[in-house]
Amino acid sequence: MSQRKNTGGGHLSTFSRIKAKRVILLDNDCWKWTGYKDKLGYGHLIFHRAKYLAHRLFYERLIGPIPNGLVLHHECRNPWCVNPQHVRPVSKEIHGMLTSGILKPGRSKNETEEKGE
Ligand SMILES: [Zn+2]
Repeated sequence: MSQRKNTGGGHLSTFSRIKAKRVILLDNDCWKWTGYKDKLGYGHLIFHRAKYLAHRLFYERLIGPIPNGLVLHHECRNPWCVNPQHVRPVSKEIHGMLTSGILKPGRSKNETEEKGE
C-alpha cells in the first residue's frame, strides 16, 4: 500500500499563486503586473478580501511593512512594476517632487532648456 503524496495545490500561499499567475519577469528585472491596472498604470488587486495596490502588497509581503504615512516610489519609473527592490519608501512630499520632476535623484537641477539670450 503506497500512500500518494500530495505536494501540489493547497500548500502554496495565496500570495505565491498571485505572483506566479500575474507577474512576468522582464529582462530589466522589473516584475510586470499583468492584472488590473488603473489609468496611471498602477496594479491593483484584491487579496484576502481587501483592496491593495499591487506594488505595496508585494513590498509588504517580501520586504516588510511600509512605514506609516510613506508611499513607495518606483525608482525604475514603471508604475506597474511590483519588484520590491525597485521601489523605495518616501514621504508623500518627496514622492510628489520625484514624480513631478522637481527633484531629480542623482542629477543636477541646474539644467536650463533655454539657450537663447
Ligand atoms: Zn521595476
